[in-house]
Amino acid sequence: MMQPITTIAYIGLGSNLSSPIKQVQAAIDEIKKIAHSQVIKVSSLYLSKPMGPQDQDDYINAVLALQTTLTPLELLDALQSIENKAGRVRKENRWGARILDLDIILFGDDIITSERLTVPHYGMTKREFVLLPLAEIAADLIIPSSIAADRQSVKILSQKIANNAIGKLVQR
Ligand code: ATP
Ligand code: CA
Ligand code: CA
Repeated sequence: MMQPITTIAYIGLGSNLSSPIKQVQAAIDEIKKIAHSQVIKVSSLYLSKPMGPQDQDDYINAVLALQTTLTPLELLDALQSIENKAGRVRKENRWGARILDLDIILFGDDIITSERLTVPHYGMTKREFVLLPLAEIAADLIIPSSIAADRQSVKILSQKIANNAIGKLVQR
């Protein structure tokens, strides 16, 4: 029998509704229950300004590393069911307030362009609320890309990005 492939995926978490710190902590606990997977690292929680519409509360963000034998789409299904269970309502307005957002930032070295999934996440190199927590747990990672010049380290990218009023929450 073929052995399943083990991959380390990085997941970005975000919330700005209904006690966002609790939402993110509860989501981490739910991700720990995903089958065929193990959470291996979790960043600190970060407080950041919203992207897009500014008439909404600040966000709590984090990134975690998940070792998994799921396929990327199986992982997306698992994450979306956690979002739905948390009460996420999909609205028309892009980047509006949300109770929980779980994005696949990286899936090993995979480069995926399909209808449901773009990996690496298209926004990861431009978003400080992804790069700063990711640098905390995986500074030496090189972003996979078909373009050689885009294969940069998380550490370098995180040092170049503007810190748009992002703040690390004091750990309990
Ligand atoms: P953004 O994608 O800019 O971060 P968003 O997270 O608010 O915005 P959503 O409404 O949560 O966007 O997701 C829309 C769709 O994006 C999802 O239904 C999913 O199929 C697709 N998608 C594509 N790539 C990814 C990825 N890497 N992780 C999660 N979802 C993705
Ligand atoms: Ca997102
Ligand atoms: Ca999303």
